[in-house]
Amino acid sequence: MLEKKYPYYLANKAQTSKEWMDVVDKYSGKVATKVAVPDAKAVEQAIAAAVKATEPMREFKPWARQAVLQHCVKRFIERRDELAYALCVEAGKPIKDSDGEVTRLIETFTIAAEESVRTNGETINLEIAKRLDGYHGYTKRVPLGPVSFITPFNFPLNLVAHKVAPAIAAGCPFVLKPAERTPIGALIIGEVLAETDLPKGAFSILNLDGKHAGPLVEDPRFKLLSFTGSQIGWDLKARAGHKKVTLELGGNAACIVDADQGPHLDRVIDRLIFGAFYQSGQSCISVQRIYVHDSIYDELKKRLVAAVKKLKAGDPKKKDTFLGPMIDEAAAERLYSWIEEARKAGGKVLCGGKRKGPMLEATLMEDVPRDTKVNRQEVFGPFALLARYKDFDDAVAMVNDSDYGLQAGIFTDSLAHAMRAWNELDQGGVIVNDIPSFRVDNMPYGGVKLSGIGREGVRYAIEDMTELRLMVMREV
Ligand code: NAD
Repeated sequence: MLEKKYPYYLANKAQTSKEWMDVVDKYSGKVATKVAVPDAKAVEQAIAAAVKATEPMREFKPWARQAVLQHCVKRFIERRDELAYALCVEAGKPIKDSDGEVTRLIETFTIAAEESVRTNGETINLEIAKRLDGYHGYTKRVPLGPVSFITPFNFPLNLVAHKVAPAIAAGCPFVLKPAERTPIGALIIGEVLAETDLPKGAFSILNLDGKHAGPLVEDPRFKLLSFTGSQIGWDLKARAGHKKVTLELGGNAACIVDADQGPHLDRVIDRLIFGAFYQSGQSCISVQRIYVHDSIYDELKKRLVAAVKKLKAGDPKKKDTFLGPMIDEAAAERLYSWIEEARKAGGKVLCGGKRKGPMLEATLMEDVPRDTKVNRQEVFGPFALLARYKDFDDAVAMVNDSDYGLQAGIFTDSLAHAMRAWNELDQGGVIVNDIPSFRVDNMPYGGVKLSGIGREGVRYAIEDMTELRLMVMREV
């Protein structure tokens, strides 16, 4: 249980409502708390307040934005245990991982506090021909104005942070709709923001489901829609009109284990397990496809399967739990049915494959036919498949044989193979000697193909939330 009910935020202020939505403890299935749901009038008021806050936010100088972000960092550190516990309850995320996400939240806000005073422009040399003598160009970054954010369930704190903190640093008022299954992280961030002197209307956080979030997508008063979530993002983009849209969507991340990795198998296996099963595989860069050189395939398989069988599954509130529940029973049943489909098509289950309620066992398969869902789609659960390759060209082709392209990993001692992976893998990022699931909050992060458009990572999000404004000066 969480101790209190949570309001929504309208123009920086906590609001309750006649309507309340349950938030369920994802492990026990019991109602943990309730959150207030705004009506359509409140949604309109939030947008109008954001529009009104456009100028005050532009005038709220970088040092003042920095002070707000620094306050948040201080408060998140003070409220660390409460934040981690809320996450553990609302997302079913093991408490160790929940605490790790609080660390990421603090880092993301810290980076934003630093970047808030670094939104620099540049000087452009316009004297490119005799007739242009005396002309000089200068740019600065101007906040876009009101922006709307929609976030998913799997990182209820840090993916909210990746939108909110850059918006404050950039000087944009925002309206956020957190995932309805995991709104508490965002609402605690709201509670902390409400303590600051952000201009009135600078932020609203609305507990809405997808059906009632239309105005955040369609309203032309928003200058940007920044969406993180499933493939539904492409539909939202089609409805978004003229505003900018950034999409951070899913993938079916692959990892190559090269022929020379025999001596490093302990380290490689340790990282593969983390990448595939951390927070029950519910990460957009979770390891889903593992391509192993033929010469070490059998040894890696034997040791990986033995290690996966030892993973401790169960109550996410216990400190030694590695594998908690999936977000709900329907999600676990969906992946279970995909595993069954692959098994019937000739795939071999090496370990796991059973489900109880929202708990799905950590599952490894091999010999999975190409056109099965666990191969082609995003599993978003505790599952990975193994396949062997003989020629490095084949490994590259197997990774690229996907509709997605967020990040890929490659374990190799070969500089030539590392460079080929970077050059030839069609991805937003290539991680050498680690898993595709690697992310630090100041790096550019985002995908190609169906995985999305645009990049997050604080500095890159600030660029999206600001417009370059040019001044040309003529010496007379
Ligand atoms: P989801 O798409 O079901 O929901 C994401 C958000 O969109 C939620 O807030 C939801 O309420 C909202 N939404 C759904 N339908 C909507 C509609 N019609 N109009 C407006 N809003 C709507 O995704 P999810 O299940 O919460 O999250 C899992 C997905 O997110 C996975 O596909 C995962 O890969 C992806 N993801 C991507 C990244 C990334 O950075 N690339 C990070 C985390 C998760």
